[in-house]
Amino acid sequence: MRVQSPANGTEGHSNAWNAVNWRKVERNVRNLRQRIFRASKEGDHRKVRSLQKLMLRSYANALLSVRRVTQVNMGKNTPGVDKLVVKTPETRSELVDQMRNYQPWKAKPARRVYIPKAGGKKLRPLSIPTIHDRVMQAIVKNALEPYWEARFEPASYGFRPGRSCHDAIVKTHLISCPNRRKKWVLDADIEGAFDNIDHEKLLEIIGPFPARELIRQWLKAGYMEGEGTFLLQRTETGTAQGGVISPLLANIALHGLERALGVRYDNAGTIRGPRAVVRYADDFVVFCESKEDTEAARRDVKDWLATRGLRLSEAKTRTVHLTEGFDFLGFNIRHYRAPKTARSGYKLLIKPSKESVRKLKERLRQEWMKLKGCNIIALLKKLNPILRGWANYFRIGVSKEIFSAIDRWMFQRCVRYVKFSHPKKSWRWYCSKYWGKFNPQRDDRWVFGDKGTGGYLLRLGWISIKRHVLVKGRASPDDPTLKEYWLKRQKRKIHDLPTKLKSLARSQKGLCAHCKTTLFNGEELHKHHYRPKSEGGTEEHTNLRLVHLFCHQQIHKTKRVAKDAV
Ligand SMILES: [Zn+2]
Repeated sequence: MRVQSPANGTEGHSNAWNAVNWRKVERNVRNLRQRIFRASKEGDHRKVRSLQKLMLRSYANALLSVRRVTQVNMGKNTPGVDKLVVKTPETRSELVDQMRNYQPWKAKPARRVYIPKAGGKKLRPLSIPTIHDRVMQAIVKNALEPYWEARFEPASYGFRPGRSCHDAIVKTHLISCPNRRKKWVLDADIEGAFDNIDHEKLLEIIGPFPARELIRQWLKAGYMEGEGTFLLQRTETGTAQGGVISPLLANIALHGLERALGVRYDNAGTIRGPRAVVRYADDFVVFCESKEDTEAARRDVKDWLATRGLRLSEAKTRTVHLTEGFDFLGFNIRHYRAPKTARSGYKLLIKPSKESVRKLKERLRQEWMKLKGCNIIALLKKLNPILRGWANYFRIGVSKEIFSAIDRWMFQRCVRYVKFSHPKKSWRWYCSKYWGKFNPQRDDRWVFGDKGTGGYLLRLGWISIKRHVLVKGRASPDDPTLKEYWLKRQKRKIHDLPTKLKSLARSQKGLCAHCKTTLFNGEELHKHHYRPKSEGGTEEHTNLRLVHLFCHQQIHKTKRVAKDAV
């Protein structure tokens, strides 16, 4: 029997959250975003502003923003200075009400936390706003983003809806093919891009946006450092990394780079002219036809960045020829000699960079250390997602050899783990207990796994190399004329799921069986047993539904309430 809280309305709140029709909410917000996009394309600024105001007041937007901040985003369990985190349906509903009654808004300072940089010993500062500020930022973002989506330059791929690192890499691939003329590369690095953006310039670029004063407040809010006794630090420049809206603000601040460099496109969207750019947030590369022009491009970039309060890092910005190669977004892009096979005498290979491989091994090594003496089920649960995530990211490159090398390295770690767990047993015993032909689709007897549950360690060698289809030109999901195009692209994401979930996702057309919105909104996915296992439900396909983690919780909660009522 569950104890229900006294009559302060929490039960009503919980019902309110659980009864939300998410499909409708998403449709509402999407429609409004598309209307903003269209008005922006048509250059009707008055209409844009009135639609943006509508978006800022929209109830659906508040609901969706709370869902995003408290269920999807990375920092959902990291509190701000007020130490508040929101984890239950009741508090989520309360939060929605609070968001709608705040007037006027007063931004709180962010909380400074330091997280280790991937694979290194250095620390990266993050500024975490309070939950309320984060939700408000998400609300404001929905009003601001579609306006800019209609204007952003085509070669900007970072932190934009419907675009990813993979698009940036495929674009890089197309530009740097050996039969193209742009063989010189400016591998640029902006010094502390997020920390140094000039506030006034940024606000000037944003222009007369209805929530402009809110943005000013967030920019100026400063951050608290230390435990117990906080010290308020002012922020005179930069947009805090950790806020929901910061990546969008950075994109707005860096909007215009292509124009500054004189990158030209023809009507079909093909690059014409001697220069090309690929940008992912503050990370970008410029392609040129000669070394001299690369130097000229460097000066152009420098001058243009200065108007935003930004500088190129002299130490990290390099001019390289494609035969030397360069690293971009974890990949290494380079021309290799191939006098016999290629007409140009060179072939282009895009592989995981040495640094990426080193970071992965470092991370796995740390996990193996922590898992010493743990049982194999815990081990598989921890390691498989890391391997799958890494392989899904790098499978678009020429990665087969590196994948196999990592498999061999993992095999050694498995042997070490087994020896540590059972120091007195024989090799023969190890083999019969831990290795076998676990994966029914593979004729491989050397798979590491658990005979009890049938679970096994993923091998990267199984993951097929898959080319990514580049997002076209300026295409944005906010563009109402491209509905079919984006539906099709979304369905491709099913490929990245574990095998068992793929067919489920396919039969559900990529939608959550509970809330009927896309499975790929960033929330964790769960298998729901339609008929519970406790009542004899099976693992059969027909008894399974693929749902979001929180939808799953919701299903079981409402079931329980229904039972209590009987
Ligand atoms: Zn769902």
